Amino acid sequence: MTQVSSPDFVRRHIGPTDADVTTMLKAVGQPSTAALVERALPAGIRAAAELDLKAAPSEPAVIDELAAKAARNQVLTSMIGLGYYGTHTPPVVRRNILENPAWYTAYTPYQPEISQGRLEALLNFQTMVSDLTGLPTAGASLLDEATAVAEAMTLMRRSSKAPADAVLLVDHQVMPQSIAVTQTRALPLGLEVVVADLRAALDESALTEATGGRPIFGVVVQYPGADGGISDWSRLTTAAHDEGALVTVAADLLALTLLTPPAEWGADVAVGTTQRFGVPMGFGGPHAGYMSVRKGLERTLPGRLVGVSVDADGAPAYRLALQTREQHIRREKATSNICTAQVLLAVMASMYAVWHGPRGLSGIAHEVHGKASGLARALQDAGVTLATEAFFDTVKAVVPGQADAVVAAALDRGVNIWRVDANHVSVSVDETTTGAQLDLVASAFGAGPVIATDGEPSWPEDLHRTSAFLTHPVFNSHHSETAMLRYLRTLADRDYALDRGMIPLGSCTMKLNATTEMEAVTWPEFANLHPFAPADQTEGIREVIADLEQWLCAITGYDSVSLQPNAGSQGELAGLLAIHAYHQANGESDRNVCLIPASAHGTNAASAVMAGMKVVVVKTAPSGEIDLDDLRAKVTQHNTTLAAIMVTYPSTHGVFEDTISELCDLVHHAGGQVYLDGANLNALVGMAQPGQFGGDVSHLNLHKTFCIPHGGGGPGVGPIGVRSHLAPYLPNHPFSAEAGPDTGVGPISAAPFGSASILPISWAYVRLMGGAGLTRATETAILSANYLATRLDEHYPVLYSGEDGLVAHECIIDLRDLTKVSGVTVDDVAKRLIDYGFHAPTMSFPVAGTFMIEPTESESLEELDRFCDAMIAIRGEIQEVIDGGVDVADSVLRGAPHTAYSLVGQWDHPYTREQAAYPVGVDPLRKYWSPVRRVDGAKGDRNLICSCPPPEAFES
Ligand SMILES: *Cc1c(COP(=O)(O)O)cnc(C)c1O
Repeated sequence: MTQVSSPDFVRRHIGPTDADVTTMLKAVGQPSTAALVERALPAGIRAAAELDLKAAPSEPAVIDELAAKAARNQVLTSMIGLGYYGTHTPPVVRRNILENPAWYTAYTPYQPEISQGRLEALLNFQTMVSDLTGLPTAGASLLDEATAVAEAMTLMRRSSKAPADAVLLVDHQVMPQSIAVTQTRALPLGLEVVVADLRAALDESALTEATGGRPIFGVVVQYPGADGGISDWSRLTTAAHDEGALVTVAADLLALTLLTPPAEWGADVAVGTTQRFGVPMGFGGPHAGYMSVRKGLERTLPGRLVGVSVDADGAPAYRLALQTREQHIRREKATSNICTAQVLLAVMASMYAVWHGPRGLSGIAHEVHGKASGLARALQDAGVTLATEAFFDTVKAVVPGQADAVVAAALDRGVNIWRVDANHVSVSVDETTTGAQLDLVASAFGAGPVIATDGEPSWPEDLHRTSAFLTHPVFNSHHSETAMLRYLRTLADRDYALDRGMIPLGSCTMKLNATTEMEAVTWPEFANLHPFAPADQTEGIREVIADLEQWLCAITGYDSVSLQPNAGSQGELAGLLAIHAYHQANGESDRNVCLIPASAHGTNAASAVMAGMKVVVVKTAPSGEIDLDDLRAKVTQHNTTLAAIMVTYPSTHGVFEDTISELCDLVHHAGGQVYLDGANLNALVGMAQPGQFGGDVSHLNLHKTFCIPHGGGGPGVGPIGVRSHLAPYLPNHPFSAEAGPDTGVGPISAAPFGSASILPISWAYVRLMGGAGLTRATETAILSANYLATRLDEHYPVLYSGEDGLVAHECIIDLRDLTKVSGVTVDDVAKRLIDYGFHAPTMSFPVAGTFMIEPTESESLEELDRFCDAMIAIRGEIQEVIDGGVDVADSVLRGAPHTAYSLVGQWDHPYTREQAAYPVGVDPLRKYWSPVRRVDGAKGDRNLICSCPPPEAFES
């Protein structure tokens, strides 16, 4: 059969119809999209040929292709453990969160008023982590357990007063992938990681012995350890504190329902994964990592933190707290580079706790421990020696010279167990393990049937948990499915996601996340694979990975791609580490200066510092372009130490700068490398290839350009593409030879292929669109942005455009003059847009006092016009303030957003209730109601509350 294109899907993905395109072209004064793009895009960077990727015939055909790949995965029972366990996702959570666009198409909750649902879910997550670890402040998710350990390392370094040459001491039973990621991250920072057996002597002498007397800034232990063993770390913790070091414990949350929480024996920081709380293994991810800290460390927490504040009416309201720590504000002084995290997965894990409650969770833990204890007894009865005495869910057995044989015998019985070394294997039990499976595993050792115990803790009394947890009503109320369903619906109803209307956030590319693209994520053949499962059981997902790598190379013009980084920020770090390793291999390890334009995304500077580089800022010219004179001066000044430039293209100003080729030449000429931030690839796909017009390495955000939904703030995938000279320095992984080159920089994520289970989404997108469809999407995205710029310019000046007056795929509109004359701020306009039924554009990035608007190709002309009409109507409201009729403090703009409740009762505003809630253009049948009035962020930061407030707080 001949391949036909898939006009149906392309038509469904792209918002404007052919007739709309004609209208829009007329508005922007261009004869055709081809002509528009021809003029907007500098000739020098145009791709030499059309993008040659075939489209699948239809959506059902793509599902068939993916199903065929899924069938080539072999899902055996996994008892590998090592941080990844079987889990039952409560069906009510799977269908109503993981498969529900109201949750998965939301953006990061930067506009708190329209994000109260997911903010509450994240607060539940923080409360859950804080209760289980005993540490008072928990963040709203990290990328995975291994990166959480690495983040804890730098947190401890910042907080410890130990001398500069102090080392990080890591117990050898910390998860091997966590040790490896921590080593990758320690190296560029000049931090030394010492791995030692800290159980041998749990006291001060163990510390000094392990480091040869060197000072220590931090200690990391695992609880229970990678081998399953449970140790009492209290003496070691005291000894570490006496030395001026902090202690981080990587802890299993399910075990903590029965184990003494780390805070009670003195740990400063707890980290880990929440995967086994209802989030499928998914061949490695995505899952939410967590971190909680003791009092005094909350302001140094990496990642996002949700806090409780109040709204304009004094009602409790949630919002992101302490944003001043983050990379978008502190740049190279930020505490970490994390931007996109794992919100959707954190929400799922929190709902697993809400669903089961404290009794349900400890019941599961007892059952798991009972099964493991029964297995241990059966093995011992058969004469097998166990390597650990006290354990929770993992049994490590001594099988001299027989490890391979035992693993093979288990495999014959359909079970994967872990080969520790030639003489040891380990078996991890989880909530899904059945009695029959236990018997099969036991028989692989030659042991008889397993009789599970009652699961009462079999470890030393001192480590039996006695403190209560999850006592808040939210964890004790929604245990019937009806109650849970309604709770989830209530929260979802508070939020504005793509299922309600456009989210025109510049730099975020909030395009359609098509249902067909999403389907495969929850298929068991992809969802239930352990990341360290034998390669011959995972051929299907590896084909998806190989295809996607190849297609991304074709799209970007790079030679190799690594899909391991699980967010754009992690791709940045991986790319910079590759650059650093390349210079080092060339004997130029002095090259450590990273040039970053003033307008760059905050993650760029934060990543450069994490890669051990020195940030030098390049000025922006008044035209918005990079100031080439300043660049020349800086290149000359740092000629011998120049490592790289990080530049976004098209620029964060939404313009195709025609100086890009010159810029790349300048830096290359001086011996530097060009890191081309590819977050804006939606303006380039099918048109220009960063790997061909000057980039040496780029990260792409699959959660922007390639349709992975944003999940309310994650998951993401931030693959990097590199030219061949950097390919030897891509990330790799200790447990997968295929994950990257031997010469690589080490792992950047816990799993070999990062967040593998969401890669089928981007695979399906590329397959459905084909080269022609993708190119058409890019053209339409550019046309739509220019249409918006044209319609809005006379009301709000468009700040930057190219020489021909055109913008790329987004545009910045300037409100600063209006603010000067009226007092109306960008905040006021953003909140007023909520009353009109819109999510605000990106605020004050990259220029303070402006909006950056990115419509994407998926929004119809009707929706674009609805947005323009709202913006123009708001401009009229601003005019009333300017003309003096209304005081800004009493204006409808400052009063926004208006809740339904605020309309009843006393009304003493100079505007009417109708003006407040139903301004021109708002369809009464489609009205979105903000659940809270404007949130007071500063107040919540002064009085930090980061766990669930008591129900009385909501009594009005
Ligand atoms: C989104 C974005 C990033 C960071 O990506 P994350 O996945 O959020 O870490 C970096 N640079 C630019 C220009 C971006 O828009």
